Amino acid sequence: MTLIAATPAQRKLSDSYITVARWRGDRAAAISYTFDDGTIDHLTIVAPMFDRYGLKATFFINPGRTDRASAATQPADPYRSEYFNWHQCRAIAHAGHEIGCHGMEHQRLAALDDRQLVREIVTAKKRIEEELHRPCLSFAYPFNERPDAAQKLVEQNYPFATGGERVRFGGAHFTAKRANKAVERTIEGGGWMIAMAHGIGSGFDPLPSGTILADHLDYVRQHLDKLWIETFADVSRYQRERDAAQVLVTDTQDGAIRVEVNCRSLDPTIFDEPLTLRIQSPNAGSVSATLERDGSVVKVAPATDGNALIDVTPGEAGAVLLRFTR
Ligand SMILES: [Zn+2]
Repeated sequence: MTLIAATPAQRKLSDSYITVARWRGDRAAAISYTFDDGTIDHLTIVAPMFDRYGLKATFFINPGRTDRASAATQPADPYRSEYFNWHQCRAIAHAGHEIGCHGMEHQRLAALDDRQLVREIVTAKKRIEEELHRPCLSFAYPFNERPDAAQKLVEQNYPFATGGERVRFGGAHFTAKRANKAVERTIEGGGWMIAMAHGIGSGFDPLPSGTILADHLDYVRQHLDKLWIETFADVSRYQRERDAAQVLVTDTQDGAIRVEVNCRSLDPTIFDEPLTLRIQSPNAGSVSATLERDGSVVKVAPATDGNALIDVTPGEAGAVLLRFTR
């Protein structure tokens, strides 16, 4: 076997150290911004703000309300309706944001019988999928209450659901400074913060103003080297794949390493989020590498700490080939 970069110990290239990064791009922490209840200010204020910064958010809607908003406003008049309609919802989805389900009518799930639970959880999901022509993957429990019967139905129908872990973004005393502090703590802890917001300026537990959100996003934008901002579904995907991933590394005859990532326990039609692999070069000091995928060669960007990073989709047809260069 010919080694392109022989190491002093003549160890195989596949001995090079490969790990799955905790978050995409090997960033320190992840954040998902979630906005509940499908109110019109999400269309007029929030989505445009995220679009301006190229960031994605998740909007948990109540399709019963969206149905009524659609029946009431033809053509759509964003300033007349409390909730956005399907046409407006599609515009948000087409901009790359996630539309999740928050129950058909925002009911207290503990008070419902089986038939009503099916309507709130299963029929609501179908309504969203019919209107958006894409899978609805995430459920946010109304009032953050998770009775057993509802939880069972949610788990059968949605790959992802909110737990009790969302960080409240709202209330009269909420400030951009407080939001920024929460981000700082998330970076320090290396975790995933899921921000839970409702209206802007009015409605339930609102953020006092849009300016607070804008100021906060300005802060976040300056830390994108450390922060992965993505939708609730995409960070959920990454987290599950990361925990299930098996990375298979083998040497090829011509001195490259062949990297395959599999998440066999997960449904490949849902779990297709690329995972970031950190690859430490076998020959100390040299971290540049090229990557061959589907016959084409791309240069791998070295990470700041001397490790190369590559994104690989689990089960990707044809493993990627990695070559270290001096
Ligand atoms: Zn709600």
